[in-house]
Amino acid sequence: MLAAEAAFAALGEGRARDELAAYPAAFEASWLHAELLQAKNFKQWFKKGRRVATVMTGIEQWLLPKLGIRNPPWTLHREKPDYACLQPAATQPKIEYPKPDGVLTFDRLSSVFLSSTHHDENQPAHLTLKNPAIPVEVNLKEYAGPEARYCPAGVYEYVGEAGSERLQINAANCVHCKTCDIKDPTQNIVWVAPQGGGGPNYQNM
Ligand code: SF4
Repeated sequence: MLAAEAAFAALGEGRARDELAAYPAAFEASWLHAELLQAKNFKQWFKKGRRVATVMTGIEQWLLPKLGIRNPPWTLHREKPDYACLQPAATQPKIEYPKPDGVLTFDRLSSVFLSSTHHDENQPAHLTLKNPAIPVEVNLKEYAGPEARYCPAGVYEYVGEAGSERLQINAANCVHCKTCDIKDPTQNIVWVAPQGGGGPNYQNM
């Protein structure tokens, strides 16, 4: 909403669409910014163990606000990005997931259908690969093709026979969660916003 208001104001003033100078200031003045600052260390504390995290989150989100301090005076930083934490498949146990039962759990494509995801036909691809050889050469060989499992919309599929697989990208199913952009181990997948605002259209939200 803040970005839309900044865009509307910029357009009204006849400025280019990419000049959203009002947005950062509006975000920093919003309740959302204050709330995010208060919770900035939450995930990092839990990486140090549940006991430490429970105590420190209590201090940061209960005690300090009582003392009038909403922004903890310390910041924990990540040591390495998420994509660099993926472990080779050979070092990990193989997980056999039960099939969806259609009552509590559902297959991915049924859920994509419920999201009413839609993209204009013939729009430019919004999911591309920097190097088309890497999915098979690295992701499949070393990590057992994680994009075929972490994508909630079944966009990525390895097709073909063993030894001659290729990665098929069913971009029309994308629900724009951006996981692939963040999680791909070699950062080879490029996600950009689709043309025309396509994507999920949850009717009842
Ligand atoms: S953005 Fe999300 S839904 Fe879209 S392809 Fe990537 S992981 Fe799948």
